[in-house]
Amino acid sequence: MQQAKKILREVFGYQEFRLHQEEIISALASGKDVFALMPTGGGKSLCYQLPALLREGVGVVISPLIALMQDQVEALKILGVKAAYLNSTLSHQQINLLEADLRNGKIDLLYIAPERLLKSKTIDFLSSIQVSLFAIDEAHCVSQWGHDFRPEYQQLSMLANHFPEVPRIALTATADQRTREEIIQQLGLSSARQFVNSFDRPNIRYTISEANQSRESLWRFIETSHPNDAGIVYCLSRRKVESVADWLSKKGRVALPYHAGLTSEARSANQQRFLREEGIIIVATIAFGMGIDKPDVRFVAHLSLPKSLEAYYQETGRAGRDGQAANAWMAYGLNDVISLKHMLQQSEAADSFKQISQQKLESMLGLCELTTCRRISILSYFGETYQQPCGNCDNCLSPPKGWNASVEAQKALSCVYRTGQRFGSGYVIDVLRGKEDQRIIDNQHHQLSTFGVGSELSVAQWRSLLRQLIARGFLSSNYDRFGALSLTEKCRPLLKGEAEFFAREMVEKAKSTKKATPS
Ligand code: ADP
Ligand code: ZN
Repeated sequence: MQQAKKILREVFGYQEFRLHQEEIISALASGKDVFALMPTGGGKSLCYQLPALLREGVGVVISPLIALMQDQVEALKILGVKAAYLNSTLSHQQINLLEADLRNGKIDLLYIAPERLLKSKTIDFLSSIQVSLFAIDEAHCVSQWGHDFRPEYQQLSMLANHFPEVPRIALTATADQRTREEIIQQLGLSSARQFVNSFDRPNIRYTISEANQSRESLWRFIETSHPNDAGIVYCLSRRKVESVADWLSKKGRVALPYHAGLTSEARSANQQRFLREEGIIIVATIAFGMGIDKPDVRFVAHLSLPKSLEAYYQETGRAGRDGQAANAWMAYGLNDVISLKHMLQQSEAADSFKQISQQKLESMLGLCELTTCRRISILSYFGETYQQPCGNCDNCLSPPKGWNASVEAQKALSCVYRTGQRFGSGYVIDVLRGKEDQRIIDNQHHQLSTFGVGSELSVAQWRSLLRQLIARGFLSSNYDRFGALSLTEKCRPLLKGEAEFFAREMVEKAKSTKKATPS
């Protein structure tokens, strides 16, 4: 690996490898398959760019976004790397020239969109030249459980059959256990070496509040904490993007909109300004940011609730990539929750998908309602244990006063237990509230001691409490079994009365519960 170090320094200009980069590069260089899970900013690109320079032939990088490809290729060319992309923006003539270069071994890295790669003429062409490796970037796009599902990605499994000799690396920054397994299975990577980096972003401070006048509090936040900094503000709708951008501009900041309703020229112009000028705020729908590499984004603000913890993590992860202190700030209104739920119900997705999405939204709300360390909860969602409260989130810095919900929590936990850990929140709540439901009677659950012990709380309040129990790891909600709740090891002291449970004030208490809880 002397050679790899040399390239790292001389071509890329870095002194040391980051966590796992060296092992990944050496595995690929020796022809092994790799699965790499690294948080955004972890340095994934180098993991395939460098071995492509070490090995004979061209490294083929499969990437879902054309704009991203061009940026990466430009950046590589500046470093003196022979890189190119193949996509629909090229003319016939350009393609012929590129193919000639590829045949003559003049290209080390070729970026390509999946739909292009999958064409039989592309596959035939690649079979006729030497390919050093395949890198499947944003590999979570293969997963229906992920948030960026792209059907073409699933067909990438054919690479293993067509190019059995060529090592493959799948990379992603998104992976709850479920998505991770699906990537490995769909892409035929079960014998790949796996590398998983911690998802902790210690320099990001998480702050979440519920607010009705969220625009005003956004302004207070920007004015006090980031008067001159670059940042991203995420909103749910195009209309809100426009109005918030206008409003921030009136306040004297350069704030540019970014959403799918703008022409691609306008979008890319705004993006370029954001990258090149200082102190610009981009106001965007979630369409913004995949692969944006701006190291000094000092804050990411959400004016509405992201639809899952994965999305929240990815979006907030765009702050502070340079390792300096950054803020992930969010103020969401309950109306967003209602609209998200509504959008989901109205969508034409399969029921199973709706159900998963619903649970993901519940997990996100669970994080919002937490009274304890946010970081512990975020990391535990991604399968990591983080022992001590972080000291760098709102709840750690100024602990919210909750109410002692130990008794209610015990009721909920024992109800989950007595109904056999086979049911989702809706059912458990019905039993707690003593609803005369046929299904409950059929299961003889109306005879349980926990039947009707929870009539003091509304459905919405119970939902909130269950979410908090899930978010803090007392209950787990099982995607595979339609959201069935089950107890975790952590419950014991709480059930025995040896520990207390403080819950956040019920956010849905004051609102009409009819609209907020379709179930
Ligand atoms: P990811 O794709 O995982 O989000 P990138 O590959 O875009 O991350 O890398 C994030 C940033 O870290 C980039 O600016 C990149 O140039 C830089 N980087 C990557 N590897 C190293 C390294 N070994 N030393 C220093 N900086 C690095
Ligand atoms: Zn914390």
